[in-house]
Amino acid sequence: MQKQEVELVLAPDEAYDELARYRALLQAAGLKPGQADFVHLTRRSIDARGRNVGVRLRADIYQTPPPRELFGPWVHYKNVSDAKHSAVIVGAGPAGLFAALRCIELGIRPIVLERGKDVRSRRRDLAALNKEHVVNSDSNYCFGEGGAGTYSDGKLYTRSKKRGDVQRVLQLFVQHGATAEILVDAHPHIGTNKLPAVVQALRQTIVDHGGEVRFETRMTELLLDGGRARGVVTADGTTIEADAVMLATGHSARDIYELLLRQQVRIEAKPFALGVRVEHQQSLIDQAQYHRTDRGQLPAASYALVQQTDGPGGQRGVFSFCMCPGGFIVPAATTQGEVVVNGMSPSRRDSRYANSGIVVAIEPEDMDLKRYGVLAGLKLQQEIEQRACQLAGNTQLAPAQLLGDFVQRKTSRSLLETSYQPGLTSLPMDEVLGSNLANRLRQGFQAFGRKIPGYTSNAAQIVGVESRTSAPVRIPRDPATLQHPEVTGLYPCGEGAGFAGGIVSAAMDGERCAEAIAVQVAAGR
Ligand code: FAD
Repeated sequence: MQKQEVELVLAPDEAYDELARYRALLQAAGLKPGQADFVHLTRRSIDARGRNVGVRLRADIYQTPPPRELFGPWVHYKNVSDAKHSAVIVGAGPAGLFAALRCIELGIRPIVLERGKDVRSRRRDLAALNKEHVVNSDSNYCFGEGGAGTYSDGKLYTRSKKRGDVQRVLQLFVQHGATAEILVDAHPHIGTNKLPAVVQALRQTIVDHGGEVRFETRMTELLLDGGRARGVVTADGTTIEADAVMLATGHSARDIYELLLRQQVRIEAKPFALGVRVEHQQSLIDQAQYHRTDRGQLPAASYALVQQTDGPGGQRGVFSFCMCPGGFIVPAATTQGEVVVNGMSPSRRDSRYANSGIVVAIEPEDMDLKRYGVLAGLKLQQEIEQRACQLAGNTQLAPAQLLGDFVQRKTSRSLLETSYQPGLTSLPMDEVLGSNLANRLRQGFQAFGRKIPGYTSNAAQIVGVESRTSAPVRIPRDPATLQHPEVTGLYPCGEGAGFAGGIVSAAMDGERCAEAIAVQVAAGR
């Protein structure tokens, strides 16, 4: 097999035209059409540093047939119906699903419990949330098959590359129906319209190979036996015993933190972030990043911003979080009586709006630990989410303010059109967030306006509240065995336990926990 690596930068029109790209790559390799057997694109990124935006491509050019493993399937699963060992995995988010798949690879039978519904039934509850303002506390944007990762943006990049094999997770997504472009793009993205089918395919692999996935099954108690987790009890009173219990319940399962406290399983307060979601016209962001409003074939432009701010308690970062180019703002509440927003986008990222969380880092010193103990961060989140709901009229209408008005402390007489389906109510955001958070956000927005022309003006609006950025609580675990330090057989996992932030890092953590379970059961511990 003769392989040649090439790298080049092309104009967008050429880079996104398959034939033109093929010719350019061959030319860069000094080959003529017909001299290559296969051109395998390995990397694609946008270079927007100069006035002319370019697309940087890397490719392997094969003059002889390429190896078969290039095309997958990358993982072969065995059947674990009769396996000697089993694990109860609570939560069917990315952490739980990838943990279940890895358990199967390692010969352990996974029993996945999910409080929410399968992706198709879940869609009806999301429609009721958007149109009728009804929040189902077991089925919403955070709870249900695929967890918070299903009706999400589906951005698949992660900063936690050291924690696991990112490429393996991406390959598993492709093996289950995601576009192979995610293996190539520097900023891979699936999109909320494509994610449900991928999530269903992940579940099908689990079920086809002897695992179980039970929907509308909420865990309500841990079965503890002298410092060892033996299984769980579910809301209908069923007891499920297993060799290991994995808690992959996500950052919004507040009842799980309360349950652990009640059962005297140690949890800890942890830093998180809280703020608002800002919405601009996508064309403004395209103009700033690509120097043109008509972006042609280029993907909707994104940004990442950060600023240190001063205030009571010292310096705190204000930063953009989960930026969704060409996307929508969605209601992410999990209980009636609270308003929470988040963002998502379809695979084509073709809405006219760009939205992003802009959040302030919250440290334990900013929480009322004396009054609320380890749940102080959670109480702070809850207080602000409930206030947002009450002030905006006790529905899913979200409080909003024009960005220029917010910075200048003016009330907004009217608001802009929005992608947030339940609708907006004009309110001074200081009343919702309190002056400390609002002042820090103001400092952040002023700095961002200096970085992106037109960013901080009344052509944008802020919508509250962006409060579910990460878990405000950590469920501790031993770094070597990944078990809770005081409860053998209990594996805190994913974002809800404080060990992941995002789809890929949660999936990688799920895999790591499954591997740790395999080691423990093999050792008979
Ligand atoms: P989760 O996905 O939260 O899954 C936990 C699961 O546990 C849920 O399905 C829940 O129903 C279930 N559960 C909870 N309690 C119980 C119980 N008692 N019994 C049984 N089941 C229970 N991340 C990205 O990387 N890219 C993005 O583009 C992106 N966009 C997002 C957009 C939105 C709107 C939201 C809400 C999140 C987004 N995220 C994104 C974050 C990402 O979805 C999460 O980081 C990720 O899903 C965390 O995975 P997890 O498996 O740890 O937890």
